[in-house]
Amino acid sequence: MKFHYGMKTIGIVGGGQLGKMLADAAKKLGFKTIVLDPTPNAPASLSADKQIVGSFKDKQKILELADEVDVITFEIESANAEALDELEKKGKEVHPSPKTLSIIKDKFEQKNFLREHDIAVADFALIENEDDCLKQGKLFGYPFLLKARFDAYDGRGNFVIKSEGDITPAFEKLKSSPLYAEKFVPFVKELAVVSVRGKDGKIVSFPTVETVHKNNICHIVRSPAPVSEEIRSRAETLARSVLSALEGVGVFAIEMFLTADGEVLVNEIAPRVHNSGHHTIEAFTASQFEQHIRAIAGMPLVDPSPNAEVSVMINILGEQSGPAIPKGVMEAENLGDTTVHIYGKMETRPERKMGHITTLAKTLSEAEEKAVKARKHISI
Ligand code: AMP
Repeated sequence: MKFHYGMKTIGIVGGGQLGKMLADAAKKLGFKTIVLDPTPNAPASLSADKQIVGSFKDKQKILELADEVDVITFEIESANAEALDELEKKGKEVHPSPKTLSIIKDKFEQKNFLREHDIAVADFALIENEDDCLKQGKLFGYPFLLKARFDAYDGRGNFVIKSEGDITPAFEKLKSSPLYAEKFVPFVKELAVVSVRGKDGKIVSFPTVETVHKNNICHIVRSPAPVSEEIRSRAETLARSVLSALEGVGVFAIEMFLTADGEVLVNEIAPRVHNSGHHTIEAFTASQFEQHIRAIAGMPLVDPSPNAEVSVMINILGEQSGPAIPKGVMEAENLGDTTVHIYGKMETRPERKMGHITTLAKTLSEAEEKAVKARKHISI
């Protein structure tokens, strides 16, 4: 095993599928990984050298992880930012910067930050009670969104308020979290750009993709996004502005809305590898996971070249509840230029992210047709 730049072991806070794919990339580059995750035998434990079982919010467990590794990164926003900040102040390398994680993990602060840096976002406002919500409904008009400020990935903390009558049920559902409201954006497409900053300050982006969400969960990613060259480059410029405003080394995913009149707004930032970049494993000469490991290890970033004209990624969501027994993977991969990733989660549940499929092709319709066909072969 070869070691780069005197650094041997990478600690990853969070051991889900993102941690697993990061550990795979780290192994390819010659690094060891240790992951911290509360679930024994978490997906990343299949690829990492070791798993520490514990919550990614638990300061003691993060300190325990830090003792065993040379650099720390995270695959989940709910990682304890204060503990990471303390470690960084003591001289431990933590990437991306815990300061940036603190801004991003509070979706309201994140929106404030973007607005202060002149980055276009939907109008938003802090909400403390139902009365605030009523007032905001009058200002924004209906529908608008009530959103949890913290720990709200995959749309779990969102409620679309269609009329005044929805306000009380929305509060009932989201009351355990501080909230904010956001104006509804009548988007025509959702776009995303995965960008990475190296330690030398260099920023590299993958081409803009289109993401399609169902029930707030990312379902399909089309790369490149089927929009004009001008819109694609506008999205990539916007992503670069976001990275320039934020501190931190590593991968950031910028999710965006495209409106009918060609405006591109930032929806949200993830300070980590992201579902909208999974296709990069097969579709580019270096994946988002490899770029992240390269960035945090101080290695040069790759200018990724595409391995095919286009690619499509479809998530494999759980279909039932119980032990996860994937079937049909071989039949799916036999379609050619089709790769199935199964994350190794022990239990399946409806809508749980259990794996994904990436297809490569000459046209998006060909790639998507194959991905849909592949998905039909698989049950989990
Ligand atoms: P989020 O987790 O906040 O990114 O929201 C998940 C999904 O909800 C997004 O990908 C959109 O499809 C939808 N969504 C979120 N915010 C808005 C908004 N302000 N207007 C319209 N749709 C939204």
